[in-house]
Amino acid sequence: MHFTDTRPSEPSQIVRHTLGYPRIGAHRELKTALEAYWRGDSSQQELLATGRQIRQQNWQAQQEAGLNMVTTGDFAWYDQVLTMSATLGHLPTRHRSQRSDDGDDIDLDTLFRVARGRAPSGEPAVAAEMTKWFDTNYHYLVPELASGQTFALSWTQIIDETREAVAAGYTAKPVIIGPLTYLWIGKSQQSGFDKLSLLSDLLPVYKQLLQALVDAGADWVQIDEPILTLDLPGVWHKAFEQTYHALRTVPAKLLLSTYFGALDENLNTAVNLPVAGLHIDVVRAPQQLITVLDNLPVHQVLSVGIVDGRNIWRNDLEKSRDLLRRAYDRLGARLWLAPSCSLLHCPVDLREETALDRDLLGWLAFARQKLDELTFISSLLTAPDSGRARQWLQESRDSVLARRQSSLIHRPSVQQAVRDINATDFQRHSPFADRIRKQQAHLSLPPLPTTTIGSFPQTQEIRKARRQFKQGELGVEAYEQHMQDHIADAIQRQEVLGLDVLVHGEAERNDMVEYFGEQLDGYASTRNGWVQSYGSRCVKPPIIFGDVQRPAPMTVKWARYAQSLSKKPVKGMLTGPVTMLQWAFVRDDQPREKTALQIALALREEVRDLEAAGINVIQIDEPALREGLPLRRQAHAHYLEWAVNAFRLSAAGVSDTTQIHTHMCYSEFNDIMPAIAALDADVITIETARSNGDLIQAFEDFDYPAQIGPGVYDIHSPNVPEVDAIKAMLRRMARKLPIQHLWVNPDCGLKTRGWPETEAALQQMVAAATQLRREMGLAAG
Ligand code: GLN
Ligand code: ZN
Repeated sequence: MHFTDTRPSEPSQIVRHTLGYPRIGAHRELKTALEAYWRGDSSQQELLATGRQIRQQNWQAQQEAGLNMVTTGDFAWYDQVLTMSATLGHLPTRHRSQRSDDGDDIDLDTLFRVARGRAPSGEPAVAAEMTKWFDTNYHYLVPELASGQTFALSWTQIIDETREAVAAGYTAKPVIIGPLTYLWIGKSQQSGFDKLSLLSDLLPVYKQLLQALVDAGADWVQIDEPILTLDLPGVWHKAFEQTYHALRTVPAKLLLSTYFGALDENLNTAVNLPVAGLHIDVVRAPQQLITVLDNLPVHQVLSVGIVDGRNIWRNDLEKSRDLLRRAYDRLGARLWLAPSCSLLHCPVDLREETALDRDLLGWLAFARQKLDELTFISSLLTAPDSGRARQWLQESRDSVLARRQSSLIHRPSVQQAVRDINATDFQRHSPFADRIRKQQAHLSLPPLPTTTIGSFPQTQEIRKARRQFKQGELGVEAYEQHMQDHIADAIQRQEVLGLDVLVHGEAERNDMVEYFGEQLDGYASTRNGWVQSYGSRCVKPPIIFGDVQRPAPMTVKWARYAQSLSKKPVKGMLTGPVTMLQWAFVRDDQPREKTALQIALALREEVRDLEAAGINVIQIDEPALREGLPLRRQAHAHYLEWAVNAFRLSAAGVSDTTQIHTHMCYSEFNDIMPAIAALDADVITIETARSNGDLIQAFEDFDYPAQIGPGVYDIHSPNVPEVDAIKAMLRRMARKLPIQHLWVNPDCGLKTRGWPETEAALQQMVAAATQLRREMGLAAG
């Protein structure tokens, strides 16, 4: 295993590396191994062996692709932030094992207890909070910060794995999360607590860690500080200077890495830190390259993130070469190449996709292919006249051209439809106050109407039928009969429960985005394009490659069938345009907002067809609205404007009597209340059970104009809520919100639950609503 020196003596070769590589394995081996271990079906030794194997494969892939060093520290048993917390000896005491009192009490199961609340060994305790990593769909375990906390180098995984790579003959570059990003993404457990006050206790441990990494054989250490692409208060700038001056005594060469956006006003801080190298993202922020070049100190290496780590499109080599030419001329051997961010956010290997359209295949690159692209770009700069460089360039040009002209992508009728959109298409006929009166007359619902969020338990039976249908073992007719039986069953149960607005239960849906993606033109699904969402959980985002259109109705036959079984209104159920975009890999050849409008137009047709089929209540879910919010404040307004417009376009084609619902969950709504109101939905159902009613406060403070169903119980818990608890919650809400605006519903879909607890919980919920109507003297019906 021979690796070229990481610092070529002549600028004939550009150093290439990756900020991180997917850790799930090409076939989700980590998921399988973790779940077997958690179930007790395999030993810890077997789990450790799987991890070792994945790391070896990843390093081998990096070597095969000609990278100059392999990345270590990017492997994690659950999450890289959790690994960092363990390394720093900073895990909640409730998860630590009782058997040891000498501080050295962190083992693999401790990590799992933090992440999942339980592990094969040790006492269960409430899991740590999980939240999204910047604007990605990856979730990390939030460090719990409080005053008086101490840190000590306690978990040597990153060091051990670096040693492991070195022993295998690789040049290893460990990656760690920088101290400031670590503190920034942590959550204070006390109000008013200054997180930066922990810095002075944290830095000695970082020094120790860096020293240990050097001792393990590392020359360079990548230290991730992505918060340098956020709006940072002045004190944090100061803290950066202080921190990196303190760390300069360590013999490691630090590569300070930033990604997910531009440094902008943080640039001065970043380039003046005493580190050996800086990594910047020029995929999200190509414009910053020149400014950084102008400001980079003469001794520093600049690692340029030129291959998109957040998306799956093949690199336009010519464009990359042109962008980088100046940097290469100026920096020579000080220029390094890398993906924009860790490849964690990409599927592993395109070679697994044997069923994708051949043309589409030619436009894509997954993690493994992206490593090769670094080599191609390097050759285009250093040896442009070589046969190989010419060939790569030609292939790239061909692919770019094919994509630009492909009839798979470009549908003139869709583009015309987008151009034809006019201002009235975003508007319901009448304002909310008028609509709601008509809807009330039309639907004749009782006060405090009860409903659910859409999905009902996805039983083994349902999954089996879907699987058999997909594999061709079950014919269309037999499959549809199956689904109808499940719908009939769900309707029957809801009738017995006495719910007011029913749902069909979503039995036919594998996933709320994939289900629609499979039916829309312009979307493709992959076979093995898995990306880690958290721990063992992976998602397979569809690819939006072309103009989106709806060849046929997608949900109408199920909704119509469900409605035919009941006199009560059945709610149609759709996934909104923003969520359809946010949870997919989106084409990069037109602005996202344009793609959103295309999706919205397709959904608008569906909404109208539902209405024509006699569906009077239609819910358009937008759980991803908040998470699409850009990282920088100055970009918020523009995003919210087009996101809200896309929703409105999908919803506004119906008559006043048709009631539009939306649903959102598990996000911070307080800062986007005006946008939520601007969606102009008639009813919003939201999660509140977990946020202790904070959310209700937000809706009250804002004076939310329409109807609202704050979730009255947490669907994540199998516990059946008490009638009194639900009533107390509703009374509290009724003090804050107008009673005639309130709905009664769980806080999210019920697909992960079983029927017994679902029925028991809904029974309590309906009982609570019924009792409250009586006690509060509200007329029913
Ligand atoms: N209608 C969806 C369901 O009930 C909503 C899911 C979600 O909010 N993520 O499952
Ligand atoms: Zn939800």
